Amino acid sequence: MLEDKNPQRTPVSQLGEFGLIDHLTKGFDIKHSSTLKGIGDDAAVLDFKNKKTVVSTDLLIEGVHFDLSYMPLKHLGYKAVVVNLSDIAAMNAKPTQITVSIAVSNRFPLEAMEELFGGIALAAKVYNIDVIGGDTTSSQKGLIISITAIGEANEDEIVYRNNAKENDLLVVSGDLGSAYMGLQVLEREKQVFQVNPNNQPDLDAYTYLIERQLKPEARTDIKELLEKLEVKPTAMIDISDGLSSELLHICKQSNVGCNLFEEKIPVDPQFIDVCEEFNIDSTTIALNGGEDYELLFTIPLEDFDKIKANPNFTVIGHITQASEGVNLITRANTKIPLKARGWDALDA
Ligand code: ADP
Ligand code: MG
Repeated sequence: MLEDKNPQRTPVSQLGEFGLIDHLTKGFDIKHSSTLKGIGDDAAVLDFKNKKTVVSTDLLIEGVHFDLSYMPLKHLGYKAVVVNLSDIAAMNAKPTQITVSIAVSNRFPLEAMEELFGGIALAAKVYNIDVIGGDTTSSQKGLIISITAIGEANEDEIVYRNNAKENDLLVVSGDLGSAYMGLQVLEREKQVFQVNPNNQPDLDAYTYLIERQLKPEARTDIKELLEKLEVKPTAMIDISDGLSSELLHICKQSNVGCNLFEEKIPVDPQFIDVCEEFNIDSTTIALNGGEDYELLFTIPLEDFDKIKANPNFTVIGHITQASEGVNLITRANTKIPLKARGWDALDA
């Protein structure tokens, strides 16, 4: 976990807008030769030579996408970067730069902004990316963060959602469902705390799940891993809204169907324990819980031998003709059509 708590409260107005931007961005150094100009002019200047540029952006609103009562600002900064890098990784591209735009109400002192940017700076370091600009403004209420991630890839490396083929294998990285159960644990502790603020939560049994929720990582390592194995996915997507929902995207856009095997879905033992504790069906959560930021992809059947022994990957099913539909094959060997029940930010 990321620890950082500064008890001081300096009003942001004391520095002014330009002073604040200078203060928050002064530590950002440039690491990539593709960044010709970073922060400090009217626009950044990039040069990717003979590579293609991939761009993705996300908007995060306090009270809709995050809750600061259990999300420390440093974690929020880190996660805001990671969710964008995950989208670049899902194109099989390498993330290289981000821009960071924030709107803050006067409820947030300078120290809070320092924590937020501490998390952003840590992610920039861990993932080796340049922070090349952004915008800083005030909001009437709450905190708004928008990050844009930029990445590079050779044209023939880029993987879209729409190219999965019949008989391809369906593969997932890491394990699923833990971020969602981490959120359930945090929500429960928040309610306990509201009833009795002296009640100190004991979260030892939940560390993996909480880490998955508060400090997710983007699978920017997968591109290189697959390259080494000489496997190129036919279609790929990152799992932000839940496996079911992402699988439906791939199948719809590729005009195919699939069979997903319940018994193959990779989950962590701590996840199973906590699902039992909450009396929730673990398969439902592994299918529909969001925010794991693992990658879901399809590979040609003949590449099975290249990935079968790799602990990073699990084969969870295969692609069929569109007419067969998108199905879960349960442990009892019944076929259930999959629906997207991943949480929808527009319903929040
Ligand atoms: P402008 O008035 O042209 O929008 P700003 O004064 O907003 O310029 O920004 C000055 C410089 O600081 C620009 O390079 C901008 O990209 C950068 N910048 C502003 N806010 C942020 C931020 N939150 N994070 C990173 N860079 C920022
Ligand atoms: Mg500006």
